[in-house]
Amino acid sequence: MQNVKAYSAASATSPLAPTTIPRRDPTEQDVQIEILFCGICHSDLHSVRNEWSEFVATEYPIVPGHEIVGRVTKVGSAVTKFKPGDLAGVGCMVDSDGTCENCKDGLEQFCPERILTYNEPDKHLGGVTYGGYSENIVVDERFVLRIPSNLDLAGVAPLLCAGITTFSPLRHWGVTKGKKVGIVGLGGLGHMGVKLAHAFDAHVVVFTHSPEKKADALRLGADEVVVSRNQDEMEKHLGSFHFILDTVSARHDINAYLALLRRDGNLTLVGAPPEPLNVAAFNLIGGRHSLSGSAIGGIAETQEMLDFCGEHNITSDVEVIPIQKVNEAYDRLSKSDVKYRFSIDMASLKGD
Ligand code: NAP
Ligand code: ZN
Repeated sequence: MQNVKAYSAASATSPLAPTTIPRRDPTEQDVQIEILFCGICHSDLHSVRNEWSEFVATEYPIVPGHEIVGRVTKVGSAVTKFKPGDLAGVGCMVDSDGTCENCKDGLEQFCPERILTYNEPDKHLGGVTYGGYSENIVVDERFVLRIPSNLDLAGVAPLLCAGITTFSPLRHWGVTKGKKVGIVGLGGLGHMGVKLAHAFDAHVVVFTHSPEKKADALRLGADEVVVSRNQDEMEKHLGSFHFILDTVSARHDINAYLALLRRDGNLTLVGAPPEPLNVAAFNLIGGRHSLSGSAIGGIAETQEMLDFCGEHNITSDVEVIPIQKVNEAYDRLSKSDVKYRFSIDMASLKGD
């Protein structure tokens, strides 16, 4: 076992603060990665503040972070895909049973034994898993991703969650040329959704409650931008969307978006507000609309997404911060004030 530097929160109301955490020595199948950058996902904020307590309670202290990119420093004797010096990524999951129907289908995120990168039982050391706001991480090679060498690493980190969480439903619902796609919320997930849907040649419309983001939405690849509180602008799009991806992190009216779907259109929620959302039956019945959810993506699909981003030169637009600014970043994230993902330069942890 080794002790490594990390940032953790001691309670739902405590700031993140320096600490040390244990990491296992790599087993035969494990890869040890020195973390270079870690993105800040809104799920980190929901978890640190225990906002999802009804569904998944947070165990303290929590070390968040599941958008991890770094360099391999050690590998176990049975590891075949990685060697010391390689770039490597870790996303939201670090383990699954590998044998269930979901794992066999490449959908490890739905495995009943799936272990998330933080706040889930750690079968090696006991306690819970600790995430990427730390010096290093030790992960079974099945859950370690290869990183394209041509991309900026600070902007790659968010692909490991925000990238795959938007790539997977866009692919699942057949977003291609000729399809009209809405992205609701221009934050970490939303801006990746815009970049990816644009790269898939769809007609992309961004819905934002922040009018000042309009110009950025167009620059990121949107064909049109709608300020969601403007009723006239919303009505122009009634019954016209094949697919809408909702990335909003807080309570909001999804009926306004269901009404914009064309016949057989689908709205998929990836945003995970803690409170239930109301659905008017007539907004589904009318056009045989469907409402779905989606959770990150499987490991093979995550690799496919990273390779796609490598080929198309796609990274997240990031504000790089030292870890010492993480609490300030959380306050800004809670106000939708980030362009468009914070990425922590983990070299800063050495300064603590
Ligand atoms: P984020 O960067 O904070 O983006 C969320 C965006 O939602 C904001 O930028 C804002 O966009 C919009 N928004 C926020 N509050 C709003 C409100 N009160 N009314 C209307 N719009 C509002 O967060 P993120 O990291 O992209 O994560 C988004 C959500 O997805 C979170 O709930 C997170 O936990 C969840 N998530 C789910 C998965 C999954 O697998 N399903 C994976 C990762 C994250 P505008 O300013 O443009 O309106
Ligand atoms: Zn995330």
